[in-house]
Amino acid sequence: MRRRAFVLLALLLLLPAAARAAGFTVQCPGSVERGSAFFVRVESDAELRNLTVRWLDKEFSPQAYRTARGHAAGMLLGVGLDAPAGHGVLHVFADTAAGRTAQHHKVAVKERAFAEQRLEVDQEYVEPPAKALERHRREKEEVAKVLAEAEPGLFLECPLVRPVPGAVGSEFGLRRFFNGQPRAPHSGVDLRGGEGEPVLAMAAGRVALAADHYFSGRSVYLDHGQGVVSMYFHLSEILVKPGQFVAKGQEVGKVGSTGRVTGPHLHFGLSVLGQRVDPLPLVDRDCVF
Ligand SMILES: [Zn+2]
Repeated sequence: MRRRAFVLLALLLLLPAAARAAGFTVQCPGSVERGSAFFVRVESDAELRNLTVRWLDKEFSPQAYRTARGHAAGMLLGVGLDAPAGHGVLHVFADTAAGRTAQHHKVAVKERAFAEQRLEVDQEYVEPPAKALERHRREKEEVAKVLAEAEPGLFLECPLVRPVPGAVGSEFGLRRFFNGQPRAPHSGVDLRGGEGEPVLAMAAGRVALAADHYFSGRSVYLDHGQGVVSMYFHLSEILVKPGQFVAKGQEVGKVGSTGRVTGPHLHFGLSVLGQRVDPLPLVDRDCVF
């Protein structure tokens, strides 16, 4: 009788430990401001096999690594300017001792009031001729392809480098009017810089695209892996070629005034799994990967 009670007690004590070993924990914020990136961390005592994350209809497989206490994976996600209102659900799947296990976390999208900005540019950038519109359509498709690709062998390393030292000229998310006409909100941040000033890669990555586009002018897109792509627009000169790997802080081009601009500056953009977010809060800051 006493022995049976002891076995039962031992089983009860062991159960929570077993449940812990079979599962994993997910750290993510309960709410995120529109236009912001956020960190997610998955931890487990056991190996995280076939880890998959789904966020705002995009799915990817972060690389898990060994830690002092077990196994973990970290990733950057984002809530773009046109993400659906309300909340998103972060789905995390992994194979554990208990089989395929899933966790679902609600992340509320906090609305944010963005200021208005009125700019005067050449009329051809407000009402482009038919030929330019056709060109822009092709370039948009090219960019969409780049933003959808995620280099699996790369891993974003923090802190990120500020591409130019200049102050912010135009903030991220501004509601824009060009020559009085409403256009898409500002999907990056404009940093002040003189014509010809070096533009540095915010992190190591692969050049996904280096092209001269109608609106963004001479542009470089760097793929940093795990769905993270940084963008550098309006360059006077491009110093890298598609497919080339660049180091963190490497010069990729020079500040210029190509495309739809009012003067020389760097437009610095960041896309995380297709969500355009403000890159500046991540610069010179440690990540929690
Ligand atoms: Zn800009």
